[in-house]
Amino acid sequence: MVKVHLGQCGVCAHFGEHHQETEVLHRIRTTQEAPELIVEECGHPSNEKLHLRVTAVSGCDGFESAVSVQRQGDIRP
Ligand code: SF4
Repeated sequence: MVKVHLGQCGVCAHFGEHHQETEVLHRIRTTQEAPELIVEECGHPSNEKLHLRVTAVSGCDGFESAVSVQRQGDIRP
């Protein structure tokens, strides 16, 4: 497992966006930890037509949080 930080794909709203939210995606967002080898399609409009596939610890400037910041270092769905 790897730690997923705010700004990285695992906690981005576009990570696996066009799939029904799976238990795995939900768990990544709530625990901020992801399996090292997980790869999902990015649903950001700029990347969608390219079928860009990213890991949970990848990232880009199109990041949009799938979780709200409660307090520093503690993010929740
Ligand atoms: S590549 Fe960018 S927009 Fe796509 S899931 Fe990762 S951070 Fe979000």
